[in-house]
Amino acid sequence: MELEVKELVKHYGKKQALKGINASLTEGVYGFLGPNGAGKSTFMNILTGNLKATSGQILYDGEDIRKLGREFRGLLGYMPQQQALYPNFTAEGFLAYMAALRDMKRSEASKRIPQVLAKVGLSEVAGDKIKSFSGGMKQRLLIAQAVIADPRVLVLDEPTAGLDPKQRIAIRNLISEIAAGKIVIIATHVVTDVESAANRILLIREGELVADASREEMVTTLSGRVFELKIPQSELKSLETNPAYLMGNISRERETLFVRVICDGKPEGYEATPVRPGLEDVYLSYFRE
Ligand code: ADP
Ligand code: MG
Repeated sequence: MELEVKELVKHYGKKQALKGINASLTEGVYGFLGPNGAGKSTFMNILTGNLKATSGQILYDGEDIRKLGREFRGLLGYMPQQQALYPNFTAEGFLAYMAALRDMKRSEASKRIPQVLAKVGLSEVAGDKIKSFSGGMKQRLLIAQAVIADPRVLVLDEPTAGLDPKQRIAIRNLISEIAAGKIVIIATHVVTDVESAANRILLIREGELVADASREEMVTTLSGRVFELKIPQSELKSLETNPAYLMGNISRERETLFVRVICDGKPEGYEATPVRPGLEDVYLSYFRE
C-alpha cells in the first residue's frame, strides 16, 4: 500500500496554493503540519477527489487515483475541516445515511454502525439528535463516519478544531487507536495534534513541503540550540530585538521571566539553561513571522 504524490500543483486563479508537492506515503500516521493558508485543505481535497489538481498526480499503488475513481474512493475515509452534519439526524441515522452513500449493504451497515459508535464513545447517544451534541461529540461522530467502511486511507482535516485541551487529547488517542494498518493523514496547524501520534511529519509552508522526516529527526536538527533564559522583565525588549534569538514561550515568576529561545551556540551574557528541543521549536524555526 503506497500513496505517491508527484509534482502536485494547484492554482486558484493567480493564487498558487500548491507549488509542486512530492511525497511517498506507506502504512503509518502522517502529520501534515503548517499554518492556516499553507495549502493543507487544498491537498486533502485533491486527494479525496473533491478538487482537481492543476498539474501533477497522486498514485495509489502505481495507479492514478483519478483513473481509479470509485475504486479509490471506496478505500478512503475523509473527515472534512468543515463540520458538515445534519442537526436533525440522530447519530445512528447519520451513519446509516453515510453508509448508504458509500453503497454499503444494509446488513453490513447495521453491523458496523454500533461498532464505530462504540469506538468513538457515542453508543449511549446513538439515538439522540446531532443538534444536542457538544463540539467534541460532533468531531467524534465525524471520525466515526470516516471509518465506517474500514478505510485503507484515512484523511482527517483539522480533527481537533474547536475542542478544549481535554477533548483534544481524547481525539488524539482515538486516532492512534484506529490508525493500525492504514495510511492516516492528519492536517493541522496544532503541533501537539501530531507530536506524539505521527510517525512522520510533513511541514508545509505556502504551498511547499519544507521538511519531511520523523519527529526525532526534526528535533535532532535543533540539538544544542534551544535554551531557557532567565532574565528580568526589563531585558525583554532587547532580547526581542536581538536577531540572534528566536523567541518561544515565556513564563513568569514575579519580576523574573523564563524565555525559551532558539539560537546558534550558547547565549552570551545571559543565565541560560539548555533544554530538550521539541516539535514546537522546530515549527517555530520554520515559521518565524
Ligand atoms: P490550509 O488548509 O492549510 O489552511 P488551504 O488549502 O485552505 O490552506 O488554502 C491555501 C491557500 O489557497 C490560501 O491562501 C487560501 O486563501 C487559498 N484558497 C483556498 N481555497 C481557495 C479558493 N476556493 N479560491 C481561491 N483561493 C483559495
Ligand atoms: Mg485547512
